Amino acid sequence: MPRATPTYIDTHAHLNHPRFKRDRPAVLRRASDAGVGAIVVVGYDPPSSREALDLAEQHEHLWATVGLHPHDAKDAAEAALTSLRNMAAHPKTIAVGETGLDYYRNLSPPDQQQQAFRRLIRLARDLGLPLIIHNREADEDALRLLQEERAEEIGGVFHCFSGDVDFARRVLDFGFLLGIDGPITYPPQRGTKSELARVVEQVPLEALLIETDCPWLAPQPHRGKRNEPAYVVEVAREIGRLRGVPVERVGEVTSAAARRLFPRLKPPGEKRG
Ligand SMILES: [Zn+2]
Ligand SMILES: [Zn+2]
Repeated sequence: MPRATPTYIDTHAHLNHPRFKRDRPAVLRRASDAGVGAIVVVGYDPPSSREALDLAEQHEHLWATVGLHPHDAKDAAEAALTSLRNMAAHPKTIAVGETGLDYYRNLSPPDQQQQAFRRLIRLARDLGLPLIIHNREADEDALRLLQEERAEEIGGVFHCFSGDVDFARRVLDFGFLLGIDGPITYPPQRGTKSELARVVEQVPLEALLIETDCPWLAPQPHRGKRNEPAYVVEVAREIGRLRGVPVERVGEVTSAAARRLFPRLKPPGEKRG
């Protein structure tokens, strides 16, 4: 099958997750065939960040981020932060994250999550890198900490956005983008339009990034199975359907937004110089 024109960027993929160990080459091939020209491999602790960098070194269309998931904030020891700082200096590291707050599962105590979050924001500021924010049921604290740490100077994205229209506008006013994932494709409950669909319809298209968060959150029609970067096209398709624009246009606009936020990302298909 001929490769599709590289049009889409999966801005949040955990290809460093053990569930991709067995068949990663096939996963990468399917992504290229689907027109996914670049993939951001997101770290969630020091070992997975190291793995993301290893993958980015092996494949020119993969980039890495270094992060510490709020679930692991209780492990934010000095050694972990030093190792993240060293990896963040690598030329294929394009962002710090994921980092943030998760009050839904609260696998680390909230005060430790906040402390680790602040330290990663400061790391990103020191290095001039944008942030990838994980926020679950912590809207007010997440935005407040970003404001207190002056994160608007580096920018970032609220990945896997799940807030309402009002919070989306506050995030955009702060200068951050919204990452949209598989749940946008799930049929609304009781036939009413989901709040996420309202967000996607009402904010500027330039404010959106597309992502899979694979191996989790597979979009329709793959829901319930392992997710992978090729399926980010389904997210773009649903955004296009909601807004009445062709899927390719969603790919172009979201890719341009990704390159503005992550200046080290080269356009899909362009050779690294
Ligand atoms: Zn996340
Ligand atoms: Zn993630």
